[in-house]
Amino acid sequence: MTDAERRTALEEIAAEVRVCTKCRLHQTRTKAVPGEGDPDTEVVFVGEGPGENEDRQGRPFIGRSGELLTELIGSIGWRRDEVFITNVVKCRPPGNRDPQPDEIEACSGFLHRQLEVLDPAVVVTAGKYSLASFRPGERISATHGTSKPIDPATGARNALAFAMYHPAFALYQASNKQTLVDDIRLLPAALIDSRRRRDAAIEPAPAPIPEPAPSATLEPEPSATVTPETDPDPETPDPGSPSAPTPAIDDATPQLTLF
Ligand code: URA
Ligand code: SF4
Repeated sequence: MTDAERRTALEEIAAEVRVCTKCRLHQTRTKAVPGEGDPDTEVVFVGEGPGENEDRQGRPFIGRSGELLTELIGSIGWRRDEVFITNVVKCRPPGNRDPQPDEIEACSGFLHRQLEVLDPAVVVTAGKYSLASFRPGERISATHGTSKPIDPATGARNALAFAMYHPAFALYQASNKQTLVDDIRLLPAALIDSRRRRDAAIEPAPAPIPEPAPSATLEPEPSATVTPETDPDPETPDPGSPSAPTPAIDDATPQLTLF
């Protein structure tokens, strides 16, 4: 898919989200919040659901949690507009209550389709509802800061899910912020790891070894006309040799630029 095709496909999904009435959350929303970001990104952040500010403006993570998320993304040298940001449910649960299982289920098709289009290398799960969607049965207190391959049934064909606390975790208690900062510092290495896995998955199968020609019946050609010095171009470089030095990537650096 080209960048333009992705953009169009994401806009089609967003248009459906804005008029969706599949669950009760449509009754109380002001605006649905489909998500936003770079259609060509390798990294998708998935939060829980829109809050009050998001509901008013129709954009994800623009309130206090959003400010912190933007700061966290900046802390590893990335920009918010280089990633894609969305939520498990696209409409605000009233009074910021937790999304209910039937609401998450009703909305899951949109997230699935967004991930199919984006084909990310990493899905960052922000908070326990997002974690449950990608790494069912885990406790965030035990697995935050780690990554794990995702079930392709989520729509993400070949991705790692990187588990993070929700940014609101730091708003409840300031000392929690360091945990978020420490966790997101591990995200660039998770991206490199996922790129390696994806590259390995698309490596072509080794060419089959050709059967040796049945030589027993072949008479050697008369060699009088052939001399060993007739190689037409002995300087032809080996096509398999590296054409350019591979840039060294320090897996530990938190400053890896995304693109
Ligand atoms: N919290 C979320 O989980 N998502 C948002 O978009 C905003 C706050
Ligand atoms: Fe539709 Fe999702 Fe909004 Fe429910 S939360 S109305 S399923 S877009």
